[in-house]
Amino acid sequence: MIISIASGKGGTGKTTLAVNLALSIGNVQLLDCDVEEPNAHLFLKPCIQTRYPAFVTIPKVDEEKCNYCGRCQEVCVFHAIVVLPNAEGKKGSVMIFPNLCHSCGACAQLCPETAMGETKKEIGSIEVGECGHIQFVHGKLYIGEAISPPLIKQVKEYMNPTRTVIIDAPPGTSCPMIASVRGSDFCILVTEPTPFGLNDLVLAVEVVRKMKIPFGVVINRSDIGDQKVEAYCKEQNIPILFSIPFDREIAELYSKGIPLVKAKKEYTQKFIKVMDSITHTEVSR
Ligand code: SF4
Ligand code: SF4
Repeated sequence: MIISIASGKGGTGKTTLAVNLALSIGNVQLLDCDVEEPNAHLFLKPCIQTRYPAFVTIPKVDEEKCNYCGRCQEVCVFHAIVVLPNAEGKKGSVMIFPNLCHSCGACAQLCPETAMGETKKEIGSIEVGECGHIQFVHGKLYIGEAISPPLIKQVKEYMNPTRTVIIDAPPGTSCPMIASVRGSDFCILVTEPTPFGLNDLVLAVEVVRKMKIPFGVVINRSDIGDQKVEAYCKEQNIPILFSIPFDREIAELYSKGIPLVKAKKEYTQKFIKVMDSITHTEVSR
């Protein structure tokens, strides 16, 4: 079973849930797909066994063949290519902006002169390791790289179907979150009971509903703020899987990088219950 953990906004406790859920159940794999800022390793402290560079393909023009017709610029919807045509006896030029390129390959496919080839660009790394019974994989996007979905997809290629897979998705509701949760059997949306929390939860619910992924909600710091998140879930028939109270001790454990279930054993059963409610109860769509 693939369970992704997402949140419309950062800082809601998504990684806390992913790490503690992984520590509480057996035969599990944790993929940290928050590749711009992976932090599950800070809590799990896995033993990293292998590290792989991650690449994307970007176009590379063959100036010998190119006649500067501009077709590649036209087909690139991401505006990653600018072609300056031949003019007044001066040779034209093709400028490629790798940080805008989404590696779709259209420019190479549609170049009438077969002048557009491809080259590889390293955008980050993937580390694979173990933490006790947990198989651990995370991606790290290099600073300055703008496009994370290709790296997220490469991290997901390490998914082990013989285990329960927990995916820690990036915050937000844009392409990186969608690339992370796509293909999940269930998505846990983590939120907090504040107006911001509710606003971003509504957006995240719209996304997972469109993707037809069953989902439920976990409310973190549940005793601060107001009751509007609960009321929204009730009205929308969305199950609340777990409410984690605001607790100074939990915050201190977090700041020290200590997983909740390591210090407060009673929470293990609560996370197992979350897992049971995902697998055994009717869930929201
Ligand atoms: S489409 Fe091909 S020939 Fe035309 S400008 Fe681009 S690379 Fe050059
Ligand atoms: S590969 Fe796709 S996104 Fe990249 S420059 Fe070519 S057309 Fe644009």
